[in-house]
Amino acid sequence: MHIGFIGLGNMGAPMAHNLLKAGHQLSVFDLNAAAVEHLVGAGALPVDTPTAIAQGNAELIITMLPAAPHVKSVYLGESGLIVNSRPGVMLIDCSTIDPHSAREVAKAAAEHGNPMLDAPVSGGTGGAAAGTLTFMVGGSDADFERAQPILAAMGKNIVHCGAAGNGQVAKVANNMLLGISMIGVAEAMALGVALGMDAKTLAGVINTSSGRCWSSDTYNPFPGVLDNVPASRGYSGGFGSDLMLKDLGLATEAAKQVRQPVILGALAQQLYQSFSAQGHGGLDFSAIINQYRKDT
Ligand code: NAD
Repeated sequence: MHIGFIGLGNMGAPMAHNLLKAGHQLSVFDLNAAAVEHLVGAGALPVDTPTAIAQGNAELIITMLPAAPHVKSVYLGESGLIVNSRPGVMLIDCSTIDPHSAREVAKAAAEHGNPMLDAPVSGGTGGAAAGTLTFMVGGSDADFERAQPILAAMGKNIVHCGAAGNGQVAKVANNMLLGISMIGVAEAMALGVALGMDAKTLAGVINTSSGRCWSSDTYNPFPGVLDNVPASRGYSGGFGSDLMLKDLGLATEAAKQVRQPVILGALAQQLYQSFSAQGHGGLDFSAIINQYRKDT
């Protein structure tokens, strides 16, 4: 299939590579010329603007952009993807944005006759490179069925979450819980160590007891408890604290729109905001434990 791909950053570039590997023809655009060059080297066709992608022969267009303002500027308006695409061309936005913006863009697409899915991902850059991302998809049943073989070239778990915007709903709810659970594990680990316990022994108890969770047994924030996690390599790589802060902001904003209290989510957002303000936004999000540790 001829696919247009816009946004070739840390996630978009490996995703586009996997589409090429699966035999699709790709037209690509990014504001960063070096990112485009890299994909052209792998066989993609460079295109000058999103408008030109929309006016070309692509049967499907995928975007992987930083945040809602970028998504709106690429999709909406005179030079946007929607008014310039042929009706029927499918649009899939894989960026993580708030559900309200996702629904606004999907509505504009539907009015122009373009099926649209929101399909944010989890799995990080490693999952993007390995083609094992989880896609949380919002849109109609028929559009989900149509997109599934394409998404399967980039991911392993492809979950239909309901109507437009619901992919983003699943993403913000999951990541809010992840932020809260990481802070909880950090607090408990720091307390145990401050009271004289060995970190590895404590993690072993938690991981076979009722406190067990992904942040503890797969991504423990205390250095040396697990190999191959950011905590054991100075909190480098992984999922940046600033990205967690962004996702917690999306969750609290979305909650405000429906007047739903997210008390721990808002507290988690403030903790990551303070951590970021101290200059640590580039560290993996498990480094939040450094706000608690007295032994460093
Ligand atoms: P990134 O900043 O590395 O890449 C974004 C790319 O979009 C850049 O290459 C940038 O030049 C390009 N871009 C920005 N505005 C543009 C425009 N108007 N037109 C064309 N290109 C434009 O970001 P990323 O890490 O690839 O993340 C992309 C999305 O995926 C974000 O919404 C992020 O929250 C989400 N996400 C990231 C991760 C991760 O681990 N990095 C994991 C899951 C989800």
